[in-house]
Amino acid sequence: MRLVSRFPLLVAGLASLLLAACIQPPNPSTGPAAREEIAARMRADVEELSRDERMGRQPGTPGGRGTFPWIEQRMIEIGLESGTGDPGSTWRQPVELLAIDPDSSKLTLGQGRSRLVVPESDAAVFTPRRRALAVGGPGTGAPVVFVGYGDGLVLGDALAGAVAVMLADPGRDVARREALFGQNATAVLTVVPDGDALAAVRAREGGGKLILAADEQDHLAAYITEQAFARALGGRRWQKLKADAGKEKTGFAPLELNLAIGIDATSDRREFTSQNVIGKLAGTQPGSGAVLVLAHWDHIGECDAPGAADRICNGAVDNASGIAMLLELARRLKAGARLERDVYFLATTAEEPGLLGIRTFIETPPLPLESIVAAFNLDMMALAPAGSPIGVIGGGRDRALDAVIAAAVTQSGRRIGDQDLADSFLQRQDGWALLQVGVPTVLMSSTFGSRGILDPFIASRYHKSADEAAGIDYGGAVDDLLLHETVIRQIADPARYPPRP
Ligand SMILES: [Zn+2]
Repeated sequence: MRLVSRFPLLVAGLASLLLAACIQPPNPSTGPAAREEIAARMRADVEELSRDERMGRQPGTPGGRGTFPWIEQRMIEIGLESGTGDPGSTWRQPVELLAIDPDSSKLTLGQGRSRLVVPESDAAVFTPRRRALAVGGPGTGAPVVFVGYGDGLVLGDALAGAVAVMLADPGRDVARREALFGQNATAVLTVVPDGDALAAVRAREGGGKLILAADEQDHLAAYITEQAFARALGGRRWQKLKADAGKEKTGFAPLELNLAIGIDATSDRREFTSQNVIGKLAGTQPGSGAVLVLAHWDHIGECDAPGAADRICNGAVDNASGIAMLLELARRLKAGARLERDVYFLATTAEEPGLLGIRTFIETPPLPLESIVAAFNLDMMALAPAGSPIGVIGGGRDRALDAVIAAAVTQSGRRIGDQDLADSFLQRQDGWALLQVGVPTVLMSSTFGSRGILDPFIASRYHKSADEAAGIDYGGAVDDLLLHETVIRQIADPARYPPRP
């Protein structure tokens, strides 16, 4: 595993490429003994990363905080150099996160002197702040403005300081609420059709969230069932309002309601820093572009129901296996003939809550994103037996990359599996964020090559305490690792793979 000291000449640096070519070590073997070694090293790393003591590697928990230094240590042992490009923060790229857990909420409505606290079964309020408060209506100086199915943009800046009331219109609500807050409404009350719709909002917003601190929006968002809102306003008045607003009509003019509203919510908040870990294997031709290999190290913590005998979601397949493969790839690429292009190894945090770590990498990349000729995401890499078809998530988007992959797959005697199946996972992995900014990125894994392999895992182990290291077959993982090695060796060579146009 420790390959650094075996090649002291390479570490010392060489006078010329010619000389380097003469004494290049042979690429590591791919024979049966090598396959067994690869499987053994991956198994050891998967077992280490998915130990119960790591408590499911959730960012911001002791288990998460213990994991990125472990990865960093392995990268150092392997002989990589720091890939952060930041002497002030070697190996680690800080990812600033904010955990928001809704705590309490209260919505009060009334007309004239009567005030009514809307029962929890009919209302919910959410804020990212510790406490947020808004009042509106007669005598408060803040109007309550009903915008119907609109977004209030016709009002210009008249919404500033107002409480806006909008009718739910699934599919458009997020953008409309955004627009209302954009006009400086202090709060937005959304009228949803019924209790089921409110329960859906609660399921989406109420369970706590992890976001990038930079994405925090100071929004006080309230929801009420139509029935409860009609009761507060008066049934007839409500029916007329709703008819006037008319979903299909255009040009409905927002109007002020003679209604007093009090909105109050609190949240538990915690800001903390997690880390991406970035190592680099420097090539012989710096400046000729780079290859990026990435895998997320985080998982979802304790996820099974309280009271269950085992609540820890160990994330052995998802994604200890990806980190194990990233490390093993680094070992083998480091041990073999020196590559021309730089290869970056990125272990991302906070993939599970929404590709947050990779977004930070993209926003503050240690190398120009345009210089990345191709990226390989490793996610859920150990499930299939040897010889299984390989799924290529993100394939079919870059002809040059597709051609290299297709040739390597054929050469290995395997075949590419169900492309539709693979692509149904396109947006659920870090590679998606890279594709959005134009970096050609694939996720090649025999896990996604056939339903026969994937479906039973999704049904019984995915994001459950049963995703444990015991019993994993590393045959497919070894196939996939060797395929990555072949593909990356070619792509790292400017003579065999062009820079991005
Ligand atoms: Zn996952």
